[in-house]
Amino acid sequence: MSRSAAFRAVFLGPPGAGKGTQALELAKSLGVGHLSTGDMLRAHVARGTPLGLRAKGFMDAGKLVSDELIIAMVEERLSGDLQSSGWILDGFPRTVPQAQALDKSLGSSGRPLTHVFYFAVPRSELMSRLTGRRTCSSCGAIWNVTSKPTKLAGICDACGGALTHRSDDRPEAVGRRLEEYDKSTQPLLAHYRAAGCLIEIDAGRSPAQVNDQIIAVVKARAV
Ligand code: AMP
Repeated sequence: MSRSAAFRAVFLGPPGAGKGTQALELAKSLGVGHLSTGDMLRAHVARGTPLGLRAKGFMDAGKLVSDELIIAMVEERLSGDLQSSGWILDGFPRTVPQAQALDKSLGSSGRPLTHVFYFAVPRSELMSRLTGRRTCSSCGAIWNVTSKPTKLAGICDACGGALTHRSDDRPEAVGRRLEEYDKSTQPLLAHYRAAGCLIEIDAGRSPAQVNDQIIAVVKARAV
């Protein structure tokens, strides 16, 4: 698939729906940018920046970081290194004010969203996906101790890096993150459905099947 500078997509769905895995894959095959607000925040926490220090407590408790901080962080990237490329936003927007801020800044630059993918997964499956998830500290690949194990426990098959268990993937924080999703993020479905750009993906299936469905949509709606 060719590089698409006009591809501007949002990946929306509950934690554990597979947005990160699919966003990495699709960004690579389309040659577009991948902006994960969760990854950006974790990098700030790891570096101990002022933003990371403010965000860490909210993240560990499974709560959302304030709209003001997140919007500023995303706008800096969209008007900076991602200005002239296509991109996938993974984990943003997560609240109605974030979606409104995004609509406003894309509207004023004449570059509206081209796709909003909603990753639908039965609630019963999310808990095991989240508590079993392991992330490579080096390349960011995502594994799962039951559904997608690595050959050697704790070691990334792709690059040999050490796997980490996110502190907010522990059972106590997972329940809170799902509550936050229901309260703050679920209302975005109506926002994007009304705008006519919501595409529902059956994300309860295997990563390969989900990827096939996304690719089929992208091919059918070439931008
Ligand atoms: P994620 O990796 O997308 O699951 O995000 C991990 C955590 O980062 C979330 O539980 C929130 O604490 C924070 N976070 C990521 N994206 C956002 C956002 N758009 N708005 C508020 N908080 C966010």
